[in-house]
Amino acid sequence: MRILLSGATGFIGRSLLSTLLHESHQIYALVRMNSQQLDPRIIQVSIDDLKLIDECFDVFINLAGENIANKPWTKKRKRALFESRVTLTNRVKSALQQPPKTLISMSAVGFYGAETDGTFYENTPPGPGFAHDLCAAWEHSADSFSSQQTRVVIYRLGVVLGVGGALEKMRLPFKLGLGGPIAGGKQWFPWIHIDDVLQAICFAMNDNSYSGTYNLVAPQFIEQKYFAKAYGLSLKRPAFLPMPKWLLDLMLGEMASLLTEGARIVPHRLEQKGFEFKFDDVEGALSDIALRY
Ligand code: NDP
Repeated sequence: MRILLSGATGFIGRSLLSTLLHESHQIYALVRMNSQQLDPRIIQVSIDDLKLIDECFDVFINLAGENIANKPWTKKRKRALFESRVTLTNRVKSALQQPPKTLISMSAVGFYGAETDGTFYENTPPGPGFAHDLCAAWEHSADSFSSQQTRVVIYRLGVVLGVGGALEKMRLPFKLGLGGPIAGGKQWFPWIHIDDVLQAICFAMNDNSYSGTYNLVAPQFIEQKYFAKAYGLSLKRPAFLPMPKWLLDLMLGEMASLLTEGARIVPHRLEQKGFEFKFDDVEGALSDIALRY
């Protein structure tokens, strides 16, 4: 397949590339600057280069976006989070001479807003909040690709567990025995193992019956305090140190909601398709990841 991939240098992008390179695809990575880290078999392109390519891409996998948890959500940062997702997706659409046959675009369970009560299926009306606004706008720009020529799949991801990403950020404090329940720890913690993310992307590439929006979270519902205990156990460390909500609000402002809020999300449409999760319990997922270090 001829594949266009944005966000190739990120946590999910790098893992996806090593899976895709095992198959004989022609891969174009959309980058903002040429990266030495990428395998030489990958063709690195800018948006301007896209305008010169007249062949059709079989699939555009859209992962790019400024990291949502790296810096506080100032006005400037919020703009960068929007532009790196929404504006970028729109610019790719305008630059392509021919629409891709399939678009697989990421979103997040943040789509459902700052809600901690209730159960969320793909069609449950969302709550308000910045994360919702960002995800909704990103999904809208992805949906605008939808046509007779283009099939669109959108994945609303939970916290992706693997070597890198959110787990990498938590690793040191947990290693030092500083992990524990956050803001009481009763908020839901929707999660997904990186291998299941890669599997879902590959299925959506190859199976035309995938279409529309899917919650990409493991089917197990856990609270944040349960996750903290399990992660501590996988590192053979205690994880009992509570982190009060007020302190996080003070340190992170609005961004604290990423840690202090979480809803009960159901991967309903994937389950309907018979998607088999490689990792459906968090203990198994975390012990697998511990072995990869
Ligand atoms: P990373 O933060 O690890 O990687 C982000 C990627 O986007 C990098 O390749 C980066 O390129 C690229 N990028 C950032 N800003 C721009 C920009 N302005 N223009 C072009 N490219 C840009 O993200 P992940 O791999 O973890 O996640 C992929 C997507 O999935 C993200 O959009 C994220 O929001 C979403 N997601 C991820 C979750 C997770 O737990 N990992 C959970 C929910 C959603 P560069 O090397 O140039 O910086």
